Amino acid sequence: MSSIFTKIVKGEIPSYKIAENELFYAFLDINPLAKGHTLVIPKQEIDYILDVDEDLHAKLWNFAQKVGRAIETVVPCKRIGITVIGLEVPHTHIHLIPINSIYDMDFKKEKLALSAEEFQDLAKNISSAFKK
Ligand code: 5GP
Repeated sequence: MSSIFTKIVKGEIPSYKIAENELFYAFLDINPLAKGHTLVIPKQEIDYILDVDEDLHAKLWNFAQKVGRAIETVVPCKRIGITVIGLEVPHTHIHLIPINSIYDMDFKKEKLALSAEEFQDLAKNISSAFKK
């Protein structure tokens, strides 16, 4: 059975898309820790990031770096916090999270409830920054 993220890549489940190329897809996390919290995934469904082959792994981080640069131009923050957890969705994903303190990376804290309009605006602005 396909992962929820494969369904997102195929457009079977909607997402707020940030960027895409033939290998990777970036979209807003639906339960964000911060405005602009983005997930970057390989289109190929591989559960565990350490199982991703070396070449694809390097390209994934390269793509994530560009997405991170786009996010920081749109969302004011000290840094883009970067982490990989993967305990919930068995499809490799990198979390990119605008942060101002270490506490902003606490996955146990309450997630933001953003409106569809807020998600759309963030996706539009980050996506245009990515294209620049
Ligand atoms: P992890 O596997 O790294 O522990 O967490 C999975 C992340 O994926 C969570 O931050 C969760 O909010 C996000 N997520 C789970 N399902 C969906 C979904 O259907 N759409 C989006 N955009 N994000 C999701």
